[in-house]
Amino acid sequence: MRTIADIPERLNNGPAVAEIRGEIFMSKADFFALNDIQQNSNAKVFANPRNAAAGSLRQKDPAVTAARALRFFAYAAGEMSEWTVNSHHDYLSQLQSWGFTINPYSALTENIAAALRHYQTISAKRADLDYDIDGVVYKVDQLDYQQRLGQVSRSPRWAIAHKFPAEKAMTHILGIDIQVGRTGALTPVARLQPVTVGGVVVSNATLHNEDYIKDKDIRIGDLVQIQRAGDVIPQVLAVDKDARKDTRTEAFHYPDHCPSCGSPAIRPEGEAVRRCTGQLSCPAQLLERLKHFVSRDAFDIEGLGARIIEELHQDDMLNEPADIFHLKRYQAELTARDGWGETSVKNLLMAIDQRREIALERLIYGLGIRQIGQATSMLLARHFGSLEQLMATALAAKDETSEAWQSLIDIDQIGDSVARDIVQFFTDTHNQEALKRLRDVVHPVPPEAIASDSPVAGKTVVFTGTLTSMSRAEAKAKAELLGAKVAGSVSAKTDYVVIGADAGSKARKAESLGVTILDEDSWIRLSQS
Ligand SMILES: [Zn+2]
Repeated sequence: MRTIADIPERLNNGPAVAEIRGEIFMSKADFFALNDIQQNSNAKVFANPRNAAAGSLRQKDPAVTAARALRFFAYAAGEMSEWTVNSHHDYLSQLQSWGFTINPYSALTENIAAALRHYQTISAKRADLDYDIDGVVYKVDQLDYQQRLGQVSRSPRWAIAHKFPAEKAMTHILGIDIQVGRTGALTPVARLQPVTVGGVVVSNATLHNEDYIKDKDIRIGDLVQIQRAGDVIPQVLAVDKDARKDTRTEAFHYPDHCPSCGSPAIRPEGEAVRRCTGQLSCPAQLLERLKHFVSRDAFDIEGLGARIIEELHQDDMLNEPADIFHLKRYQAELTARDGWGETSVKNLLMAIDQRREIALERLIYGLGIRQIGQATSMLLARHFGSLEQLMATALAAKDETSEAWQSLIDIDQIGDSVARDIVQFFTDTHNQEALKRLRDVVHPVPPEAIASDSPVAGKTVVFTGTLTSMSRAEAKAKAELLGAKVAGSVSAKTDYVVIGADAGSKARKAESLGVTILDEDSWIRLSQS
């Protein structure tokens, strides 16, 4: 912060201790200039001046921060070793005499009516200011009054913000773009005939989601009202349907395929967002997927951090998980790079080689299937024993009346919604192709059959009712340790149903199917024999 010119290095005649509060910002002109530079050097472009200022302050290299045109308005005091003024207005003058910059539009007014007039004045100037403001703050001037008024849960009772209303404008929608977020969420954005709103040219506005477009019947070519408030992305508020009369427009057809990769985009029941199912191959999701794939609980590849993934992806060396295992091709090229060197490249390639053999549950987790965390990955690995078996079941389970579907939701803790995410993932052809390429370079190792000599090993068990000697989760964990498969519902494939107190429909179903029913003690005896 020493590099900001508005902050003096020494205070002229300042007290021993003076804590100064204020706001660091970037002017609009400097923001646009910075983004030009960023764009020309292929660096990150900032969304708005606030992000640019925050990003500049976070720079580790003070030289970079110094090169950014940051400014500072001082406006309040923290700790002070001595006070020589008794009003806020005089304090601002003091800040100036110490060498700080204060906002030139600060004003002392005599009463509320005058304060409101000043608000109107600033509101009129707002569009011409070289920085964004969202309102004014009124403060009680006399410091002893401020003291007496005090504060309520950290907010002072002697200061109040008066925000400007959100600014609105009318313009036409030129097109509706569907953007794909890094987690695969499809978001509609209206491309607008550029229009000035509160001094800023707006050419994009959010349409929120599929239902928003449908409910308001927003169409390409429509005259719409847009609103911009602060730094938030502007939004389309309403459609002027009368303006539509003569033109023959069509209701917007929301895509059911990902515009980034072409995979089906699915919207689960009850959710507002449609998502791309091509997790493994979708360019929009790629970076997040790769980062997840190499993360500690998945492939855990040392030396392949987020920054390196981004770098390798930018240079087209990494486009899907399988590519990680082909990086050896680029050994010479990588070694010659700045900041890499022979040893680090060798170490990275070695770390990658060590993961060619990978625990099946880590592989499943690494795929990043929605709702499939570590615990569920382990369940699936135990239950299916191989990726091929899991995949075959998922493909067959596309038909929700099939036995495969039933066997999938029979797995304890896997309900309809999780099962559907599994099915969607494996039925996507792009994912299938990416998986096939991955299978060519890695060897998944199934979880050890934990106790194959136990009489319950390989048996399918269902627990129901309240157990007395252990919780359901404990019972399940123990059964799995003994090699049993624990299912959530009773079917003809169930070997044992263990019933505790108040067992309900599952016990009756077991009876009707002729499945062996055990009480808790019998189960314990059987599993320990
Ligand atoms: Zn996609």
